[in-house]
Amino acid sequence: MIHSYAGLVPRGIRIAVIAGAALVVALIVAIAVAVLAPTGSTTPTPSPSTTPSASATPTPRPTPTPTPSFNKALYSLDDASSLWVVVNKTRPLNPVNYAPAHAALNLPGGGQMRPEAAAALQKMFADYQAQTGDHFTVVSPYRSYNTQVSVYNGWVAKLGKAQADRQSARPGYSEHQTGLAVDVNTAVSQSFGATAPGTWIAANSWQYGFIVRYPDGLEPVTGYEYEPWHLRFIGPELATEMHTTGIKTLEQFFGLPDAPDYLN
Ligand SMILES: [Zn+2]
Repeated sequence: MIHSYAGLVPRGIRIAVIAGAALVVALIVAIAVAVLAPTGSTTPTPSPSTTPSASATPTPRPTPTPTPSFNKALYSLDDASSLWVVVNKTRPLNPVNYAPAHAALNLPGGGQMRPEAAAALQKMFADYQAQTGDHFTVVSPYRSYNTQVSVYNGWVAKLGKAQADRQSARPGYSEHQTGLAVDVNTAVSQSFGATAPGTWIAANSWQYGFIVRYPDGLEPVTGYEYEPWHLRFIGPELATEMHTTGIKTLEQFFGLPDAPDYLN
């Protein structure tokens, strides 16, 4: 009787078979390790190292690009103390007897303005003098409510109410009362706009934060005749934006209604 198959196979062949089988198993394990190990290690390793480095670099770049739009809501247009307050014949100061903090102007003609406007005007006057050897003179800077009462009444007595309203503001409606407006060199002569200093002001005052508030031909918008001498301080950001876009009045820039005349 045969006890077992193994008993029939010679010992040498049995060892060879076992060794061969062991080799096959070892090969399968080796292949399995080789196939599985790289797959498992490639997936997690490159993705954490590529993702942060790839996203860290482009993120700061797109951020500054979409921010050149000008923020028109940065300051109030209604608050009497706002740098951007829009005062015209339909937008009186609130309260009408508003008085700003003001500082003395260390300039020919003197007077007072709000400190930020005074500093900008002093810088502009100094630069103009350095460039041309000529100098500007302050004719009329900050005017209080009470001063405006006498100024306006003086024009009414001289010209009549209708013409006075074309060139002088009623008390409570004057930009001069904000402490941000100033008349330079003259307060009456429109020919100033064609002179060397008038041309310089029209071309350069925006760099100091000023605009010529009552441009030629825009009386239907502003309510005032051309005043090449009347500068309004609005700060360099807004003045630069208006210069760049070519929009000449605050009413047009902010989409406010035209203010050709008083409501009453
Ligand atoms: Zn003025």
